[in-house]
Amino acid sequence: MFRIGNGIDFHKLENNPDRPFILGGFEIITELALVGHSDADILLHAIADAILGALSLGDIGQHFPDTEESIKGINSVLIINKVLNLMSGKNYKIVNIDSTIICEIPKISPYKNQIIQSLNKILNIDINCISVKATTTEKMGALGRKEGVGVFTTVLLEKIIS
Ligand SMILES: [Zn+2]
Repeated sequence: MFRIGNGIDFHKLENNPDRPFILGGFEIITELALVGHSDADILLHAIADAILGALSLGDIGQHFPDTEESIKGINSVLIINKVLNLMSGKNYKIVNIDSTIICEIPKISPYKNQIIQSLNKILNIDINCISVKATTTEKMGALGRKEGVGVFTTVLLEKIIS
């Protein structure tokens, strides 16, 4: 039995050399940073939301409210780990994940392989089952004006037959 889910996330960009820019658990060295209550790892957030969606378990905002003081600055690996636990509790595993990162800056393509390797460690699934793509909005809209970054993710889950 298969279940499919999608996850979408947006975060504002700022110039902040003191705040790390993390995508899928991988830190891109840049002056830019994503604004957020947690560490703002937009890719892990979209993946977590896609898994929750596939299982009809609500969304990341429900499980990790940004009003919650205890999750301020939280490492998003902790968020995804909790979601992965919920998934295995329901006897599901990830078949494959396809994500598209949308932004003008920073340029994502030089880091795609490192991001995939980081996701491979965090999600513990085969590297061939992880796809990370990058695109721009051709300078249109807020993302085109470099005001933020967006991520769209699709995940396919499969029931573990034991
Ligand atoms: Zn987020």
